[in-house]
Amino acid sequence: MTGIDDLPIRDELRGKSPYGAPQLDVPVRLNTNENPYPLPEALVRRIAERVSDAARTLNRYPDRDAVVLRTQLAAYLTRTGGHQVGPRQVWAANGSNEVIQQLLQAFGGPGRTAIGFDPSYSMYALIARGTGTGWISGPRRPDYGIDEPAAVAAVREHAPDVVFICSPNNPTGTAVAPGTVTALYDAAQEVAGHPNGALVIVDEAYAEFSHQPSLLRLLPGRPNLVITRTMSKAFGAAGLRVGYLAADPAVVDAVQLVRLPYHLSAVTQATAHAALEFADTLLGYVEELKAERDRLVSELRALGCEVTESDANFVQFGRFEDTHAVWQRLLDHGVLVRDNGVPGRLRVTTGTRQENDAFLDAVRAVRKEISE
Ligand code: PMP
Repeated sequence: MTGIDDLPIRDELRGKSPYGAPQLDVPVRLNTNENPYPLPEALVRRIAERVSDAARTLNRYPDRDAVVLRTQLAAYLTRTGGHQVGPRQVWAANGSNEVIQQLLQAFGGPGRTAIGFDPSYSMYALIARGTGTGWISGPRRPDYGIDEPAAVAAVREHAPDVVFICSPNNPTGTAVAPGTVTALYDAAQEVAGHPNGALVIVDEAYAEFSHQPSLLRLLPGRPNLVITRTMSKAFGAAGLRVGYLAADPAVVDAVQLVRLPYHLSAVTQATAHAALEFADTLLGYVEELKAERDRLVSELRALGCEVTESDANFVQFGRFEDTHAVWQRLLDHGVLVRDNGVPGRLRVTTGTRQENDAFLDAVRAVRKEISE
């Protein structure tokens, strides 16, 4: 049988495995930071109407520049992000993963490097690999915050072309202070051999869940700063596949050089349009999830776990000697959480109240089993 390595595949892909959070059929699935609430029925009906309209012209290619959607996303950011954003500053693609891929296609690539501060979102390194961009794993403090002096020093030392800052950070839940972002931005603009500076991507996939205001307000005067967002989490639309960015219009012009024509289907654009009409209802669910997230943090602490402060819709908890064994035991109790490879730590996504109770019961049971 032919294997991947028998193919004339690129050397850096040999022996590698694809990204794969397990999609297991268990009663309580809290492993991929999805929103546990299905879309409200009124929105489902609105999607059906908008998709029907779009279906009438599916013989045509969609709006290549997704102008209507970008206008609505800009209005959403302006209304909720505490900062005026115009449609020419916004770009959308199939999930923020695709946005990040397009950014690395335009600003990374062969002979170039990107840096992130680990543990962080594992797809940065994978998308770097896929786009032929060299990957540098930068440091983080033991409490999982970004170690600002060490991070600035790493940027100066490695002179990367792209800097990733995830805030709130996946998988730790840690928000990054605006001063740390500006310090890293300033360092990235002065790196040796880069007359135009380096691109700084702030991934705000979980911004709506944060105690801290959005970092969008840092955009003015920083043409190499990009804020990425997604409809997968706060909008409860992971299945939709829409992510977006806000940046200087020149960055939007740059990604248009690498995006595939008509990358965002008319069905996707119509569905996202409908979801944005229900933003206020969906943000109401976010408030409930934030309260549940805070409850998870305090109840896990009451159970004797070490819990990292969370600004996202998930919570990192530990400390476990054998993380994988605890993961498996929780699964045996019908609860799927995530082992992100952070030593001694697991990550649980905030679910519904019932799901969170089931998770907490499972943690209680597993702690008892372990101590017996
Ligand atoms: N950034 C971060 C930090 C994430 O956790 C995720 C999804 N888990 C993404 C980006 C990508 O999300 P999507 O492609 O669904 O927008």
